[in-house]
Amino acid sequence: MPNSVPVSFEFFPPKTDAGYEKLLNVHSELKAADPEFFSVTYGAGGSTQERTISTVIELNQRGVQTAPHLSCIGATEATLTDLLDRYKDAGIRRIVALRGDLPSGMGGTGGDFRYAADLVRFIRERYDDTFKLEVAAYPEMHPQAPNFDRDVDNFVAKANAGANTAITQYFYSVDAYVHFVSEVRKRDCHIDIVPGIMPITQVSNLIRFSDACGADIPRWLRKQLEACGDDSARIQSIGLEVVSSLCRELINAGAPALHFYTMNRSEPSLAIIDRL
Ligand code: FAD
Repeated sequence: MPNSVPVSFEFFPPKTDAGYEKLLNVHSELKAADPEFFSVTYGAGGSTQERTISTVIELNQRGVQTAPHLSCIGATEATLTDLLDRYKDAGIRRIVALRGDLPSGMGGTGGDFRYAADLVRFIRERYDDTFKLEVAAYPEMHPQAPNFDRDVDNFVAKANAGANTAITQYFYSVDAYVHFVSEVRKRDCHIDIVPGIMPITQVSNLIRFSDACGADIPRWLRKQLEACGDDSARIQSIGLEVVSSLCRELINAGAPALHFYTMNRSEPSLAIIDRL
């Protein structure tokens, strides 16, 4: 099914064999939408890292390129070189390069890297153009940034260090995206900035997650969703309407592609793509 804009889909590494089997089905269903790539998240300093690696390598053999997310916080150059060599040998050619967040209780940062820009620079120096590098962008500002302008400067530093494209944190305000892109362009940075799209299927998790990662759920939307109570059919119907319309407006505003946070499910993203 050709799309009006390219799409990509993000997974997290399943914790169980059953979750893995389910992911393989979801992967086949999403392949029908002809994605440009899939990506698999990576827990900084966490115990799921090996699962990311095996999932990425397996999915990459199934016909559509798959990009591992790779975080550098707490990592050493030696361990990242081992991992990048493994990915290179397995035919991986795209990496989502991140700083990451250490799980609480893991103390200071340690490791050889401080920011995602350091990781991008490191990969470019060691691996030249072997990998296409994606980085993270925050239209509503990264929660730890001192102010918006500094955050945009720090984003542009990742592009200048060698990132090819960016994927944003999810958001529900087209204006936030348009403003962010325009601030980036003012700094003479012209890499593609692809909106990250979070389908809405559930309210309490979305609110909790959004509070943690600094994504704003506008008051009009939060109130509408909260008023649904436990009526999940109604939540999904409002979610589909709101997020499809967001995607349409983003495409009209010039978004070069859409990256879906699938939460390892196919229907919510496919329903939105069908509406487009
Ligand atoms: P950076 O770009 O390094 O920025 C982090 C903060 O440091 C920002 O506030 C920035 O303004 C500031 N900063 C940058 N450079 C400097 C500097 N030179 N001086 C001072 N301040 C500076 N997390 C995971 O653990 N695993 C994942 O798989 C994962 N996938 C993600 C995918 C996407 C598309 C996005 C948007 C986020 C993802 N995250 C993931 C979350 C991400 O790791 C966190 O948001 C993390 O806090 C920041 O990572 P970053 O790569 O954006 O960091």
